[in-house]
Amino acid sequence: MAATQVLNPATEEVIASVEMYDVAATDAAIAASKVAQRQWARVSAADRARLLRRFSVVVDEHIEELAQLEVRNAGHALGNARWEAGNVRDVLAYYSGAPERHLGQQIPVAGGMVTTFHEPIGVVGVIVPWNFPMPIAGWAIGPALAAGNSVVLKPAEVTPLTALRLGELALEAGLPKNLLQILPGKGSVVGERFVTHPDVRKVVFTGSTQVGKQVMRGCADQVKRVTLELGGKNANIIFADANIAVAGAAAPDGAFDNAGQDCCARSRLLVQRSVLDEVLSALEPAVKNVVVGNPGDEATFMGPLITAAHRDKVASYVDGRETLICGSSPQGSGFWFPPTVLMADSPTDPAFSEEIFGPVISVLPFDTEEEAIRIANDTEYGLSGSIWTRDVGRAMRVARGVEAGNIGVNSHSSVRYSTPFGGFKQSGLGRELGPDALDAFSELKTVFFADN
Ligand code: NAD
Repeated sequence: MAATQVLNPATEEVIASVEMYDVAATDAAIAASKVAQRQWARVSAADRARLLRRFSVVVDEHIEELAQLEVRNAGHALGNARWEAGNVRDVLAYYSGAPERHLGQQIPVAGGMVTTFHEPIGVVGVIVPWNFPMPIAGWAIGPALAAGNSVVLKPAEVTPLTALRLGELALEAGLPKNLLQILPGKGSVVGERFVTHPDVRKVVFTGSTQVGKQVMRGCADQVKRVTLELGGKNANIIFADANIAVAGAAAPDGAFDNAGQDCCARSRLLVQRSVLDEVLSALEPAVKNVVVGNPGDEATFMGPLITAAHRDKVASYVDGRETLICGSSPQGSGFWFPPTVLMADSPTDPAFSEEIFGPVISVLPFDTEEEAIRIANDTEYGLSGSIWTRDVGRAMRVARGVEAGNIGVNSHSSVRYSTPFGGFKQSGLGRELGPDALDAFSELKTVFFADN
């Protein structure tokens, strides 16, 4: 196994050196995972619940440590990183209630009775992107383990540290050895092996739509179960009847959280033409007040982008263009990019139609409700979106009309561990979180008992 150096994106300093799994090491981990899964499936539901609760408690005892680690590894603002570590705790606590409640059915049929059982799938391979290393790991680990599976998890190459720590905390909490294994490595090596290895029976992939399609194609060979959480280019629609001061001032929260490196970022701002000037007036001070800087400072809202290459990609959408509003960001080392607002030329303007994955909002005016829905849906993506209006009927119509999995009305909130999350169209396949997440981590078995 070769080692890779992990950088702090705020300083460009090397903060760790991590061994990268090769195919042989990945195969050995999968073999051990298969053994661990068979034993775990025989553990009673009550004991699985107890161990997951304990895991949640141990994570809770390490929130600050995990958060500080994410600040250093991913450049996340400290407040965000604390929320992310707390989300892992909450997801584990929520799904610790699931093993004893994952009920089958009794179905009366002629000549006897049918009972259904939820059987674990087996070894689950989880592939995680760099933008939310902790929550995205937790969303798969919690329900997968609750349903009786084992997990091999590959963090993104540049952000392996919190996942590795979560693996250690699982052991500290008393989870069996090899039940949850963290395998840092390349997507083309470890991730690809999850797809091709016959003993990995399900892949949960979160990342770009391009790689997600490749994963889905690979999984088809073995009819392997797959959940995909992919890209987004989400619309924030402000109608003239909204509370404009609130909606305009909230737009940066919806788009610049995690420096815009968020699949749910509301980076397309659609504004009803009659209130465009009013919205921009509310938006400008909010953008200028976004605190960009040392992610370890409590007051910081936005840290750096993840890598130099990613900063260059984000910059390519803005370079040479007139900006409508531009915030400030630190100079010197670190992969900084200021909060930026552009006026889109048209719905096909690349800044308006492509996932930039950085702190860039593109604004486009519209005239009618129908036009707003049409523009919002004129994309291959369909992950999230927001609607600002005081008209309940309009909120209902537009929320139903926008083709996206998670919509906020007068809010940018879209993620809660207790509610389903996932994308329409090319933003994904399947749903995570919420009360039904275990169904995606189990096979339904129908058993007939004859009454003879
Ligand atoms: P990416 O697709 O480049 O990588 C994601 C993960 O896949 C990484 O761990 C990577 O190593 C791995 N990978 C790369 N090639 C692979 C292959 N051939 N086989 C298997 N695995 C492979 O994405 P990224 O740049 O890390 O993350 C950003 C993207 O993730 C954005 O498009 C964003 O919208 C998306 N995302 C979606 C959600 C969601 O819930 N819908 C959440 C977060 C991020």
